[in-house]
Amino acid sequence: MSDVQQQPPAVGPAPVARPVVHRGRVPVRRPDADTLFSINPDGSRNAIHPADVHGRFQRRKHGLWYLLIAIYLALPWLKIGGQPALLIDIEKRHFYLLGQTFNAQDFWLSFFFVSGLGFALFVLAGVLGRVWCGYACPHTVFLEGVFRRIERWIEGPAAARAKLDKAPLGWGKLLRRGAKMVVFAAIAAVISHSFLGYFMPVEVLVEAVTTSPGTHPTAFVFMLIATVLLFVNFVWFREQTCIVLCPYGRLQAALYDADTVLVGYDQRRGEPRGAAGTAGAGDCVDCYRCVAVCPTGIDIRQGTQMECVGCANCIDACDEVMLKLHRPRGLVRYDSQRGFETGKRRFLRGRVAMYAVLMLMGLSAFGFAVTQRRPFEADLLRAPGRSYTVEADRVHNVFQLHIVNKRPGPRTFKIAVLGPPGADTTVGQTEVALESLADIKIPVHVFVPASAFKTGTKTQLSITCDEPGGELTRLATAPLLGPSSGRR
Ligand code: SF4
Ligand code: SF4
Repeated sequence: MSDVQQQPPAVGPAPVARPVVHRGRVPVRRPDADTLFSINPDGSRNAIHPADVHGRFQRRKHGLWYLLIAIYLALPWLKIGGQPALLIDIEKRHFYLLGQTFNAQDFWLSFFFVSGLGFALFVLAGVLGRVWCGYACPHTVFLEGVFRRIERWIEGPAAARAKLDKAPLGWGKLLRRGAKMVVFAAIAAVISHSFLGYFMPVEVLVEAVTTSPGTHPTAFVFMLIATVLLFVNFVWFREQTCIVLCPYGRLQAALYDADTVLVGYDQRRGEPRGAAGTAGAGDCVDCYRCVAVCPTGIDIRQGTQMECVGCANCIDACDEVMLKLHRPRGLVRYDSQRGFETGKRRFLRGRVAMYAVLMLMGLSAFGFAVTQRRPFEADLLRAPGRSYTVEADRVHNVFQLHIVNKRPGPRTFKIAVLGPPGADTTVGQTEVALESLADIKIPVHVFVPASAFKTGTKTQLSITCDEPGGELTRLATAPLLGPSSGRR
């Protein structure tokens, strides 16, 4: 699998591929660039337990992760101008984004918003490879920032965890694994409840949590499914999500070029490998630390591989070794293929510029469309199933005036009849107050003397809204039907 997606390897002597080494008489499998290390040759799962690592990139990542988790948990509770900061209320088909309110009629705007964000990820991948995956993807943030840390706290460091995996089931293993499962399940439930808070108002969510599941059965089933999926993912599936499931991960090879900055190994400096002090040896002492800390179980010295999520663990691990050996750090570092080969780097390239232009087009079109949106909708629609009737020599048409308040706050609407002249028009309500995103259908009856009816006659209403900066008026028009129009 990985050979299809593989980047051209960095220059220098070919790295030594040693898929199997022996520890005493026991053969130990080592990662190679052609097979998934997380899958054993017999098809069973090879659980990866990355070793602990410290360093500058870990500090940056951890700070960012806790900030992102705090935002994720807090955002559903945050209000802007009395409205949720971010909510996709599926049941009511109302959407809230940073003080802006949208209804189902605005759904087309999401095309520009989502494509703008999608191309932003392309720009990021073109410039910095899988930096999103290693630093900001929710899967990484929760797996590495929360679940792996709890696992370490309960089961110990990597070697102890691997030993526990192989240990026969006894009270010790049962207790540790049981405690881990309970804590993982509780956190998965918290994450899925918080996720629900993006799709239903938190007030309703609190009510759903504090009452019987039957009160909000759909939300309960959704939460249950999400909790189970998260639990299975973080207990078992883990890095396989990044390697085989995530479409963004699969796209990476198509987004990279020779100038994309990736985590890589400087073969020119590192090879040939050898213990410190060995004559003619490069800087790599083959200590295996960069492999031991890798959450996807790859050996970065074999070139860029699809499984690499750009987490920089191997950079910190190797820097630690280099510092101990009093050698410059950066044997494993962020650099482009061109940087590794020639020491030169190029930031601005055609493909990155193209992604950036597409990103700006999407986001600017979204921004422009949002500012140009009508503050309210007012449509005069024929009443369902009715064309016209003739009563006492008068042609009778029935309409519904549909008004939608699209503003974030309440508004009052005044309705006035403008035409046609000579008609007797009655409007169900001439003044109506609507909450944000609320709508109303007001019946409108138009009577025209049969003798005066002409095809093409239109009824027209004006709808005025009390905006803070002054009144806004819209016209709603609809054609009248009558005997000469041929329909009844
Ligand atoms: S190779 Fe390095 S950057 Fe890539 S996933 Fe492994 S540890 Fe992270
Ligand atoms: S951590 Fe550095 S020195 Fe050790 S094996 Fe990896 S690249 Fe070589």
